[in-house]
Amino acid sequence: LGPEYVRALAPYQAGKPIAEVAREFGLDESKIIKLASNENPLGMPESARLAMQQAVADIGRYPDANGFDLKAAISAKYGVPQDWITLGNGSNDILELAAHAFVQPKQSVVYAQYGFLVYALATQAVGARAIEVKAKDFGHDLQAMAAAIADDTRLVFIANPNNPTGTFLPAAELEAFLKAVPQHVVVVIDEAYNEYLSADLQYESTDWVRTFPNLIVSRTMSKAYGLAGLRVGFAIGQPGVTDLLNRIRQPFNVNSLAQAAAVAALTDKAFLQKSAEVNAQGYKQLIQAFDSLGLTYVPSYGNFVLVKVGDDDGAGARVNLALLRKGIIVRPVGNYGLPQWLRVTVGLPEENAAFIAALKTILG
Ligand code: PMP
Repeated sequence: LGPEYVRALAPYQAGKPIAEVAREFGLDESKIIKLASNENPLGMPESARLAMQQAVADIGRYPDANGFDLKAAISAKYGVPQDWITLGNGSNDILELAAHAFVQPKQSVVYAQYGFLVYALATQAVGARAIEVKAKDFGHDLQAMAAAIADDTRLVFIANPNNPTGTFLPAAELEAFLKAVPQHVVVVIDEAYNEYLSADLQYESTDWVRTFPNLIVSRTMSKAYGLAGLRVGFAIGQPGVTDLLNRIRQPFNVNSLAQAAAVAALTDKAFLQKSAEVNAQGYKQLIQAFDSLGLTYVPSYGNFVLVKVGDDDGAGARVNLALLRKGIIVRPVGNYGLPQWLRVTVGLPEENAAFIAALKTILG
């Protein structure tokens, strides 16, 4: 049953849940350390917890289908009108909506080698053709990507910073790319890890949205805001694009607890700052250890690092399994074509230390 391109889809492989690892390896659940899904090691902000608890009183009612309060909070924060915003059930929802809204079967979608896997899945799910452009230094080669845009290309996905490699594109390069792309091609700049960028690297992509009617900026509440389990993401773009995303989304795609928590988290500057600080320190802790172990890693601008754990193609899977046996969950990236590497999320200092100690033992 179903079209060939749907049957050929490989399901998204998420990080192994803690309970599953505990069962599989006979470990105490409370001792397992998960550094596998680029989650926030601080958990959720207290402000969001309180907002959610209040929202529980109304759980018998449907959520606000238009997410008025949340859009108002996003609008205030980013200085765009509310009809320039579409809410998603996580930013994965936004990525999928973009593929459904702008691409027909057999048309093409451009993204980079080592680009976030959901780009490939969303492309295939609509029966479109993927144009995967070879990476440059583990990141996007924007010139090659602009050159790869074909007559039938309708969508380009770019992650900045990129997952799983952690690479970053400076604002000037991105802006030059946007100028080079024909306006009938929609560009999604996926900024899931934007909040981890230091002040000197920050750029205002929401300003570009005013200039480029074919641009969608995608953001998530799953990372620095600490709300991964609630599933909230959003798209910012001109109404010509956000309205189409809005028409095809499910009417109640963001639930009421998630909306309430997201409003609170968006304005919780102290939590956001702490998340960035904990991440910057933890990142340093990890790369210092990699340096002293003589391990190669890709310098990262996100809340994770890609590290090379061996020279043979079995290395990633082998070291991953050894870590699992010690109760540490990281992410093998063989499915990204990086079988010698592991992606590790930056955790709390003691979590990073436990990971480093385990890795040291395993690598001898
Ligand atoms: N984009 C990128 C680049 C990501 O790494 C992720 C999370 N792994 C997402 C989007 C999706 O996150 P969410 O659906 O939780 O917003």
